[in-house]
Amino acid sequence: MAEPLRGIGVSPGFAAGPVCRAGVAPRLPAPRAVSDVPAELSGAASALRAVAAELDRRASATSDATAAEILRAQVLMAEDPVLDEAVADAIRAGSDAPHAIDAAFAVHRQAFLDAGGYLAERVADLDDLRDRAVAVSSGLPMPGIPSPGHPFVLVATDLAPADTAGLDPAQVLALVTEAGGPTSHTAILARSLGIPAVVRCGGAAGLRDGMVVAIDGAAGAVRVGVDEATVLDTRRREEERRSRAAASSGPGRTADGWAVELLANVGSAADPVAGAEGVGLFRTELLYLDREKAPSHEEQVEAYAAVFDALGGRKVVVRTLDAGADKPLPFLDQAGEPNPALGVRGVRLARRDPALVDGQLAAIAAPATRTGATAWVMAPMIATPAEARDFVTRARAAGLASAGVMVEIPAAALRVRALLREVDFLSIGTNDLSQYTFAADRMAGELAELLDPWQPALLDLVAACGRAGREAGKPVGICGEAAADPGLAPVFAGLGISSLSMPARAIPAVRDALATHTKADCERLATAVLAAEDPAAARAVVG
Ligand code: PEP
Ligand code: MG
Repeated sequence: MAEPLRGIGVSPGFAAGPVCRAGVAPRLPAPRAVSDVPAELSGAASALRAVAAELDRRASATSDATAAEILRAQVLMAEDPVLDEAVADAIRAGSDAPHAIDAAFAVHRQAFLDAGGYLAERVADLDDLRDRAVAVSSGLPMPGIPSPGHPFVLVATDLAPADTAGLDPAQVLALVTEAGGPTSHTAILARSLGIPAVVRCGGAAGLRDGMVVAIDGAAGAVRVGVDEATVLDTRRREEERRSRAAASSGPGRTADGWAVELLANVGSAADPVAGAEGVGLFRTELLYLDREKAPSHEEQVEAYAAVFDALGGRKVVVRTLDAGADKPLPFLDQAGEPNPALGVRGVRLARRDPALVDGQLAAIAAPATRTGATAWVMAPMIATPAEARDFVTRARAAGLASAGVMVEIPAAALRVRALLREVDFLSIGTNDLSQYTFAADRMAGELAELLDPWQPALLDLVAACGRAGREAGKPVGICGEAAADPGLAPVFAGLGISSLSMPARAIPAVRDALATHTKADCERLATAVLAAEDPAAARAVVG
């Protein structure tokens, strides 16, 4: 059998079926002379309004909170008055509506690319808006997802959030894209919809409608031209996987009963927590994004209380504001940093504005005290024990009993023993720890192999933290994406990691992986993986 196409597996699951490619973007028609400028202006404006209305409709129709949030951000982009003005200027200068729209988006696009990081990853969102608006203003239907009338594997160059959010998991068996990265919206949405997905798939451009493919969304493999027996076998594996996941419950344990807590990552009370022993990472910055000023004390209290209530007394680890870099906040003056990922982000914001973190800690403490919730707090982007001490002092002053910090910067991992003397617990953010250890932007799909959580240098840092945590008798968990990798779960357990926090959907596979290994297996695997020379050799140890 031919070698499968390889990409980055971003949403686990097995699927097989015929390919159907996403509708292609409209080609710009030949330019035409504009005789009626007011009519052209109103045509362009109504095309942009139609696009915004369609995306707004999709945002209201979806039950997925993440999808709705992403779509609403796109609506705001489509309604941006600066964009409107740029289109109108181009028309007054002689362009027809489709070309004026195209030119205005091209300027926005370049600005996003120049800004880099989070904004550069939003270029697919802008391109989608442009294609829709050009299509409408040319009298064509908006490009979108095909509906061949039978379940299919959707293949695309890249997918816009508007398309991914509207996918029907009963029709779309899997997603395969040529572009995108593990942190792109396609990946985030596919995971939240439970659709197996492979991004940055080399050779996906050659996939044509009707070809039958089999996908392994965890391994990132796409087998092309498979026979009927393989299709049936793939579907059987998926059914087994799903029924195992549905049957899987209870706390995280190795085969011989050694506990590794299984926790959920959430951004608000709308995110699922089923099957989790608690919340290991509550990303509070979602409450602050797209704001002109910080949310009020009352608003914060309400948002935190909603999550505490949803967990009914189970532990919730609330992370204080992690703004900056790929999560800029309009009300914080962070413009002009030459390198925002290395700038005043995360807990560093408290240097400029201590009231921001103190206010947040007070808003966490209020409902925690009132409801008796098990609220732990932690700070992101800690580099030194002194920073950790400062945060813990503030948390205690707010009346919070359990205060910890994230290990996301190599400096923190290198001095982990000193760090542990200051805190009650640690949580390793492998996403940023990879980024800073390998000097590789976590948004850059092109550098994905450096950001592979099986990289020995990253695992060495995790091992140092696990060892120090055991010596100090304090919990050390992981809350980056690596915690959702079932292959790594026994390795992390063997390295002394006491909890794994991930999107709730990922928990069953991780629970299973732990349950099929004894403590001694985990320790043996951990030792062997640390001795491996590269990610491939490390994976081969686990098999
Ligand atoms: C991390 O860096 O691993 C982490 C969990 O934080 P975030 O992804 O929110 O930066
Ligand atoms: Mg982080």
